Amino acid sequence: MSDLQFFGHVIDGEEVESLSGKRFDTVNPYTQEVFGEVAEAQEEDAQRAITAARRAFDEGPWPRMGRRERAAHIHALADLMEERTDDLATLDALDMGKPLVQARHDVARSVHNFRFFADHQRDATGETYPMDTGHHSYSEYGPAGVVAAISPWNFPLMMATWKIAPAIAWGNTVVAKPSEDTPASVTMLGRLAVEAGLPNGVINTINGFGVPAGSTLTADPRVDRVTFTGDSKTGKVIMASAATHLAPVSLELGGKGANLVFDDADLDNAVHWAVEAIFRNAGQICLAGSRLFVQSGIYDAFMERFRAAAEALVIGDPFDPRTQFSSLASRRHFDKVKGYVDSVEAEGGTVLTGGTDPDGRWLVRPTIITDLPLTASHYCQEIFGPVVVVNRFEDEEEVVHLANDTRYGLNAMLFTENLSRAHRVASRLRAGTVWVNCFFIRDLRTPFGGVGDSGVGREGGTFSREFFTEPKAIVMQIDRGPRG
Ligand code: NAD
Repeated sequence: MSDLQFFGHVIDGEEVESLSGKRFDTVNPYTQEVFGEVAEAQEEDAQRAITAARRAFDEGPWPRMGRRERAAHIHALADLMEERTDDLATLDALDMGKPLVQARHDVARSVHNFRFFADHQRDATGETYPMDTGHHSYSEYGPAGVVAAISPWNFPLMMATWKIAPAIAWGNTVVAKPSEDTPASVTMLGRLAVEAGLPNGVINTINGFGVPAGSTLTADPRVDRVTFTGDSKTGKVIMASAATHLAPVSLELGGKGANLVFDDADLDNAVHWAVEAIFRNAGQICLAGSRLFVQSGIYDAFMERFRAAAEALVIGDPFDPRTQFSSLASRRHFDKVKGYVDSVEAEGGTVLTGGTDPDGRWLVRPTIITDLPLTASHYCQEIFGPVVVVNRFEDEEEVVHLANDTRYGLNAMLFTENLSRAHRVASRLRAGTVWVNCFFIRDLRTPFGGVGDSGVGREGGTFSREFFTEPKAIVMQIDRGPRG
């Protein structure tokens, strides 16, 4: 008997193997050892999950249930997740090498996703439109149907719940597909949904590769919404696939966040957040502050402290509570990030600190690069690792231009104590989110998404409601005047 854990598909309330019996391995990137076997969905498995979600939507109680009852079910699932925080966090730490302390934080945010959207739909109001014609109109937000939720590996549980929570809260049923690199925690979520007593087929989870598991979901006309977080190139493929049956898509894609530090910034605060923005989760964050622009007057003082803080990060075993930084999530990803670090000098830059060690670990140390021309691939492409390119700037006009000079537009950060400048620059930055004197702080009511290659659409609060429902206008005659 193998002592590897097994992660199946959770379909219609049951954990099952693939119909073909095919499995693949999942690896702990820190030890590079296989710790689990995973069912590998083929087309027929993905279709089976859609069938279950379809039946749960068309015939089951979920979309017809009262708002309070649905909210209570979702809170019951959130309670169970909270109880099993350590188990869920352990799976994410094992699967992607994320420090356990950070994985626990991700579980807390995942629980909050469910609680927030459960309450948001329970307490939501619609609009009324008084009319001058003897009629009265109002809006109603009914569930859209079956949602395909496809997520990446960098926040395995959190990214999936960011999609699943609003989808089910608004009465839809879901087929979720986590990344093939990190299947464990979402599978456990599927199991917990069964244990929490959600009706069968409301949350189905399948494991497998983008093609055929994900691509079968996006192409199936029985799917009414596709919500995807991942690479911009994959997003384009998914949008084209969903377009064949006109399913609306919500795409949260790559980023190349600019971080602007002005001369009058609070230095300690700016250094703290600049480190968080590029080295948290080993830089494997779509929102990473991977382009850092520092104004001339503060440049030397900032860089001295920034470098010292990067070098002081505790690198090690994700399960050691002192660890702040660990290996990258997979061999493939390590090779990609290492490729960028190895080409710095050839492109004219300097590695101020960081780089890789010749010890076979999939580790890229916190890496700071200077002197690169703005045309270097490191500025233009998403590296998605702990690698930041730094440049100095002279004035506001110049830095706004530099920050906006990218195909991406997910987020930006700016650090200044000048109130007018903060508002002025925030407004001019082409990005879905701008953080002033902070980073990564979210209120789930606010719109989240990106501009350009960073995505299509917004989620969060009423923005999620727009996407996961079919808004309906109801027009009623209240005054029997002349017809016509
Ligand atoms: P990816 O696009 O390779 O994979 C994401 C998911 O899509 C996986 O589950 C994968 O199996 C699936 N997939 C791949 N090809 C598919 C296809 N043809 N049809 C359907 N599904 C398919 O991305 P990744 O490497 O897992 O994640 C990293 C990327 O995600 C980075 O670009 C990062 O910036 C982005 N990201 C964005 C956000 C955001 O909120 N904007 C958040 C996290 C990550």
